[in-house]
Amino acid sequence: MIRRDFDLEEMKYFLNLVELSTDDYLYIFDFTNDRAIYSKSITDVFPFASNAFENATAQLKAVVHPDDIDMLMEDLQEGFNGRRKEHNLEYRWKTVDGTYVAISCRGQYVISQGIKYLIGRISEIGKQSRFDNNTGLYREVVLENVYNEYCKVRHSRGFLMLVGVDNFKELNEKYGAKTGDEVLNILTDAIRRYIDTPLRIFRMPGDECAIFMPYTIEDNIEQAKNLYKRIRNRIDRVIEHRKYDIFFTISAGTAEFDTERDSFNDLLKNAKFSLHAAKLNGKNRCEIFDSVNYIEYIKKLGIQDELRRCISEGFEGFELYFQPIYNPQNDRLSGAEALIRWNCSKYGFMGPDKFIPLLEESALIIPLGRWIIDSAAKACNRWITNIPDFVMHINLSFVQIVKSNIIKDVLEYIGRYSAANNHYVFEITETIEMDRIPAVERVFKEFIKNDFRLAIDDFGTGYSNYGYMRDKIFDIVKVDRSFITDIDKQRNNYLMVSFIVKMAHEMGLHVCIEGVETKEELSCVRELGADYIQGYYYGKPVCVADFEEQHLKKLILG
Ligand code: C2E
Ligand code: CA
Ligand code: CA
Repeated sequence: MIRRDFDLEEMKYFLNLVELSTDDYLYIFDFTNDRAIYSKSITDVFPFASNAFENATAQLKAVVHPDDIDMLMEDLQEGFNGRRKEHNLEYRWKTVDGTYVAISCRGQYVISQGIKYLIGRISEIGKQSRFDNNTGLYREVVLENVYNEYCKVRHSRGFLMLVGVDNFKELNEKYGAKTGDEVLNILTDAIRRYIDTPLRIFRMPGDECAIFMPYTIEDNIEQAKNLYKRIRNRIDRVIEHRKYDIFFTISAGTAEFDTERDSFNDLLKNAKFSLHAAKLNGKNRCEIFDSVNYIEYIKKLGIQDELRRCISEGFEGFELYFQPIYNPQNDRLSGAEALIRWNCSKYGFMGPDKFIPLLEESALIIPLGRWIIDSAAKACNRWITNIPDFVMHINLSFVQIVKSNIIKDVLEYIGRYSAANNHYVFEITETIEMDRIPAVERVFKEFIKNDFRLAIDDFGTGYSNYGYMRDKIFDIVKVDRSFITDIDKQRNNYLMVSFIVKMAHEMGLHVCIEGVETKEELSCVRELGADYIQGYYYGKPVCVADFEEQHLKKLILG
């Protein structure tokens, strides 16, 4: 029953409550007193100063498209004259940004105690739904409203957890959209088992759900971790119960909030970053937002942008250095390893250990790798005139091997110069990812077929595949620097290196020892019978001009 002097505050309160369960804007228009109340969110989209106002007809006319005003007024007139029972009109309203959108306005004409009311709802035609029909959950727009309301009402803390289905795209492609919907339902049912308040779970774009959880006094982030575990266990049990006719895992990213500190955008961004981190760290896990990691990540993106810019602008700031490789038996230069350097105006000098992983992650190593091969081949071609059996070592990253047609590139760039293919060794650090994948093995065999040689880099650290040694795919084993430091004093290092040298020689492979810095280390390594030595003792990596000055000039001069 509508009273003569409706209580504005009470009406607003009820409209706001009903608003949560609809996409529409609700209204009560009192034509007798020329007052109106709309759902609160009306001011987000349309240029009303408030959602409850006097002089309502004039204010309404100000947002209605001028061409539609007569039509609207006529309709209202007919309604109050009793010629129409219902108001049902589509016309145009001006939005806050000055453009017009079509709205559908439906309502009932009510005359109560002599007062003429129109009560109904307005919906934007084509507006994104506030509900997800599949899961029955509210969408992100509602989450944003809920969070903003929290910020206004009281200072509180809590967490936002984004839960995503791992490999959802593949699941959808492999089994169809129906299975995708089913997976999302299993996920939301699992969440609902532990959280049954409607305004706590939301459907986010793609395959994600959000859980919004303010803390009570004794809560902390442990609550989020436990919740994730329980949801995951619940899903595992459902999958088991269904006898594995469907299988999936979930990852979650959680960010804590403090309503006095975080805007909704910040909170969502932090949760998204943590979910991204959970996926990168192997999926099937929950990551908690860490601002230090976030700053690192943003820094990394900045460096990657700069790398991309430098590469696209003619490899600006990149230079290839060369470190000599000597034959310890006769102290003669036998070749060099090409090592990339980057000195950019924004970040200064940066070591390859830092930027190569960033190039690999973004596949930028592919274009830069071509430039490296070309620059190394150019230098090799100059130096074989002085040392006819000079050998150039070029590092290859697994990204070049797996994601580009490396053989085609190598043949093209090296083919531009006259030095034959057997003047090149390609160094590869093995990773578990490329462990005997048939496609990778085929690429290695193509190198050998074309008369190139392959070296296993950093042998002895991390991952070493003895199968590749046994099958003679690699010709040179490069023993990592960490075994050589203090080899003259560390008996275990000495034993390890002596074992590697013996094993390689028995198999008919050559051994190059890296990181020899002192006379004592050199005499030890010589004694062990290494075929090649690379280290500061013979020379540091230097630019072309310095390499020629330090290592070739004395040869030419005798
Ligand atoms: P790596 O292939 O093992 O290269 C040998 C590294 O050991 C070089 O570091 C070299 O400067 C250093 N080194 C050599 N002898 C000594 C020594 O006696 N003492 C000490 N303390 N260090 C020595 P750098 O140039 O910083 O390169 C680091 C890594 O970056 C390389 O390790 C390689 O994995 C990667 N890298 C460098 N250039 C390239 C490139 O052109 N392509 C690819 N894919 N990776 C590269
Ligand atoms: Ca190397
Ligand atoms: Ca190495």
